[in-house]
Amino acid sequence: MSHSERPEVLAYIALGANLGDAQASVQVAVQRVASLPDTRFICSSSLYRTAPLKATGPDFINAVVAVATRLSAPELLQCLQAIENQAGRLRPYRNAPRTLDLDILLYGDARMNSPALQLPHPRMHERAFVLVPLAEIAAEKVSPDQLSALAFQAIERLAAPSP
Ligand code: ADP
Ligand code: MG
Repeated sequence: MSHSERPEVLAYIALGANLGDAQASVQVAVQRVASLPDTRFICSSSLYRTAPLKATGPDFINAVVAVATRLSAPELLQCLQAIENQAGRLRPYRNAPRTLDLDILLYGDARMNSPALQLPHPRMHERAFVLVPLAEIAAEKVSPDQLSALAFQAIERLAAPSP
């Protein structure tokens, strides 16, 4: 099936960076995600600043982007990994500081459980840096109870990005 015949799927992507100019990395990544092939940009959250959680290094800059895409979920992941690589991401060890991390949170209603791709993202409900920006752009995807369970995690909203 050619991509143009596929239905559009609404996907939410989490972005995070904590090395170099993390704010610029996230802003450039938002633009690259927005211009992926067969993909329409819907909206992005504000940028947020968070302290590292089970990770080391400087504070993270985080955001969540919504796109409508005709890419399959594995194709979308592959495109996101190409953007990570373009940003010079290395993986010296698990949870190492990173120039850019792009995770698919939700891909329509899809449920997948392979090691390469788990949907919805299995750890999204443990992370204020994911749920707070997600709730900003898609309040119906996050319950007040889920948000208040993470209230102990400090997160600071920065200026809204301009895609
Ligand atoms: P993390 O995002 O957990 O900090 P990585 O970015 O290094 O760590 O991701 C490790 C692996 O997680 C990737 O190689 C990818 O195949 C896999 N993965 C599984 N589910 C997802 C998802 N929903 N979004 C992004 N990557 C995922
Ligand atoms: Mg990742």
